[in-house]
Amino acid sequence: MRRPATAFVLALLVGCAPAPSFDLVIANGRVIDPESGLDAVRHVGVRNGTIDVLSERPLTGARVIDAAGHVVAPGFIDLHEHGQQEESYQMMVRDGVTSAFELEVGTADVAAWYAAREGGQLVNFGVSVGHIPARMKVLGDPGTGLLPAGIGGSGRATDDQMTAMERILRQGLAEGAVAVGFGSAYTPGAPIAEIERMFRVAAEGGAPAHIHMRGGVTGLHETIAAAAAAGASLHIVHVNSSSGSDIAAFLAAIQAARDAGQDVTTEAYPYGAGMTEIQSALFDDWNAWSDDRFAQHQLVSTGERLTRETFAKARAEGGTIIIHGRPEEQTRAAIVSPLSMIASDGFIEDGRGHPRTSGTYAKVLGQYVREEGVVSLMDALRRMTIEPARRLERRTPAMTNKGRVRVGADADLTVFDPATVIDRATYEDATIPSAGIPYVIVGGQVVVDGGELTGERPGRAIRAPITGQSPAS
Ligand SMILES: [Zn+2]
Repeated sequence: MRRPATAFVLALLVGCAPAPSFDLVIANGRVIDPESGLDAVRHVGVRNGTIDVLSERPLTGARVIDAAGHVVAPGFIDLHEHGQQEESYQMMVRDGVTSAFELEVGTADVAAWYAAREGGQLVNFGVSVGHIPARMKVLGDPGTGLLPAGIGGSGRATDDQMTAMERILRQGLAEGAVAVGFGSAYTPGAPIAEIERMFRVAAEGGAPAHIHMRGGVTGLHETIAAAAAAGASLHIVHVNSSSGSDIAAFLAAIQAARDAGQDVTTEAYPYGAGMTEIQSALFDDWNAWSDDRFAQHQLVSTGERLTRETFAKARAEGGTIIIHGRPEEQTRAAIVSPLSMIASDGFIEDGRGHPRTSGTYAKVLGQYVREEGVVSLMDALRRMTIEPARRLERRTPAMTNKGRVRVGADADLTVFDPATVIDRATYEDATIPSAGIPYVIVGGQVVVDGGELTGERPGRAIRAPITGQSPAS
């Protein structure tokens, strides 16, 4: 215990200036916390990477950011981000993302995936163990990208091969994977019985199954039934694209499953074009397309729209393409639905990619919340923050302190101007950062300051408890 005399001497030494009580203060902002429903001006005091106080009175800090006129929200949590490298992190953090997960495709080697990102990134990061890469490995797929380019997608697996896949999934869960990833659209050789068998491994581990499913509404019913039979929590990725033109029926089927007590969630991104690898099984029927269909496809490396001839050449060489053509009503219906979490499905490499990598969150806040007024600010933020945190927190306790502006929560915060926030990235240039998001804080450190990257790398691994390490890794 400190004696009164010591306290008196200390007070003399520091003189009249009040000592900063916090490492960082975000002052005068409109704090919105969708978990508690708080929407009021508060001063946020951050200490040791944690939100220490939400005060109605001004605070002193080593650094004070004046957020007057701005919203102070929990940092956005993106459950679908393939771009797990510096270049993609640089874009998404300026769009307000503070935690980015690759859960659809995932990896077959969870320990190595985390090891490769040790030492700090711009944002927090996490991964699933994936059925797609497990299948590619077991069946010997020739693909060198994320997705099967041959037998790993189209081949039938024997019972022994499925057992080998289960072993990889279990190992990944033991190494702390936060979910199990699936892409039945990319693995047409896997019957629903194989998917259900792998769902059982997810259920065993208490892990949500994140799936890019196939087969439209019929496929959705089949997928929901398989998850129910396996007892797995199910997350349908990008409902805006997987639904085709049946978005209303899709959302109704998901709602019906939820009403019946099944744990089914979904997500959407606010763009009318998709993006994927040209060698994937999605395009196996390209030879039968009519000539005009090719022009809907844009080669990412050059930005050119394709013809039958250039498509054939690109399909042989490999690469990524953007697929245009979804009507805006379909995108809007997906974004407006209270069921849809917001997730980017982003990826950018060598300056080329889809604008959803860089603009997903600002586009929802700028276009759908402000300009069109079809989503409330609180509801949009709920689906960017607390809902994705809840999707993961049962298996990954670290998520109970994310997605919230709450005393004791991690200080992952996004400060944006609701009057100006907007996406600026385009299909031709996906490297233009969003506007109106001047400050982004990760783990109490300022990563975006006045719209610019500071070079801080406080982003850490988000991982489920590790219960076993692979002898190989
Ligand atoms: Zn994806």
